[in-house]
Amino acid sequence: MSIDYTKYETVIGLEIHVQLNTLSKAYCSDSTKYGSAPNTHISPVSLGHPGTLPVSNAKVLESAVKLGIALNCTIRERNEYARKNYFYADLPKGYQITQDKTPICDGGFIFVTDKEGNPKRIDLTRIHMEEDAGKSIHDIDPFDSLIDLNRAGVALLEIVTEPVLRTSEEAYSFVTEVRKLVRYLDICDGNMDEGSMRCDANISVRLKGETELRNRVEVKNMNSIRNVQKAIDLEVKRQIEVYENNGEVDQETRNFNAAKNETSVLRSKEDAHDYRYFPEPDLSPIIIQQSYISEIKSGLPALPEELYAKYTKEYSLSDYDARNLTDTKGIALYFEDILKTTKEYKMAANIVMGPIKSHLNEKAITIDALGIDPARISELIDLINGGKISSSKASKELFPLMVKHPDLTPLQLAEENQLIQDSDNDAILGFVKQAIAKFPDKAEAYKGGKKNLLGLFMGEVMKLSRGKADPKSTNQLLREELEK
Ligand code: ADP
Ligand code: MG
Repeated sequence: MSIDYTKYETVIGLEIHVQLNTLSKAYCSDSTKYGSAPNTHISPVSLGHPGTLPVSNAKVLESAVKLGIALNCTIRERNEYARKNYFYADLPKGYQITQDKTPICDGGFIFVTDKEGNPKRIDLTRIHMEEDAGKSIHDIDPFDSLIDLNRAGVALLEIVTEPVLRTSEEAYSFVTEVRKLVRYLDICDGNMDEGSMRCDANISVRLKGETELRNRVEVKNMNSIRNVQKAIDLEVKRQIEVYENNGEVDQETRNFNAAKNETSVLRSKEDAHDYRYFPEPDLSPIIIQQSYISEIKSGLPALPEELYAKYTKEYSLSDYDARNLTDTKGIALYFEDILKTTKEYKMAANIVMGPIKSHLNEKAITIDALGIDPARISELIDLINGGKISSSKASKELFPLMVKHPDLTPLQLAEENQLIQDSDNDAILGFVKQAIAKFPDKAEAYKGGKKNLLGLFMGEVMKLSRGKADPKSTNQLLREELEK
């Protein structure tokens, strides 16, 4: 039986856990440092020993408000904490401190790019503050599970979307935007492979035109944005096939296995927890004043959307350039720094997106490790504009020298390495005459109409000048001389 997959529409809602980069945990002063020896950041509070009391970390609140503002949410005034009770080996307290009925942020939205490349608004349900659990490690010891509680109590923000995403591409774009934002806000490193950002995808399918939602499946354990997209594609296909075989999709949680490229049941609805939420008695509610929100708002860095608008409107850069340059905060800041000493927006953009980005990719480093003062890039632009070097030579030959000798100016480097092109017409004219003298028969042929021989003479002048003759002047002088 061949299945018509296009009869169906996909419905996706995402839950993204953002692990905050606060130095200490959400409710105690234990370090949050990643990669320390197991069980070295575990005070009695993290372990939930009797008699210990949590204290909320002001930085967590600040991060939550920052994210809420960036995602256009309504920030709640009175925030209560709740206990979510469940038993698990990596949850020493036996409950997680979270927020239930009063999430710090309500609503909110951002725009993503849909399949056709058009902007689409994605509405959020909520963002709430909570704490992480420890880590159970099942693949080191063949007999026992190992527990590392360093992560227990590390602060998280959970972002929940409405079930409004319709394709895996939209989901990809949404997670990418969220990661970009948390990095711009500097509240989380966004590294999905280290688990500091985690995304669970709730997925259902229904026939196009249907208005009710069908049963959803939650898929977990994707360690990259690409894998979120892959897991959704796999799950959509699986669900459609179940329906087309007259089956029912069970509401369950499934695990994504990247190596096998499949999802498998983790737990069914029957195993669903009853978390018995109740108000956290050890933490009093936090009241967020309007003045606090305004203060944070005014201290926010420029966000990608704002920079995009500036680059396209003020600098007249293309959509592609503006997106490219605002992709990471580091690149955008570097670009801005170059513009402190030049008004050549497009040239600066080309150098950042061309030689600079290629160099960073090749060396697998970020812009902070480039080591070239942004003002030097403006000097490079001046050399190109002043006709001292062609832009191709600037990026292919001079830029690599700038990387090696960041202490020298582009002019010094160009001079030392004989890269300055000769725009001195007398010198060029000398080479032009030599070239014509070398090929008198070709010069005759040119005069007779074989205009494409100009290339041959150009090549000869370049050879004679060792590549330094300015192509534009050469071209003009050659024509003049050959026409004589
Ligand atoms: P829970 O609290 O059990 O995780 P929620 O109702 O809060 O469940 O939903 C969690 C996520 O699942 C949200 O992102 C929501 O948009 C999404 N969701 C809910 N119902 C569906 C559905 N039928 N299909 C796809 N996603 C759904
Ligand atoms: Mg859920």
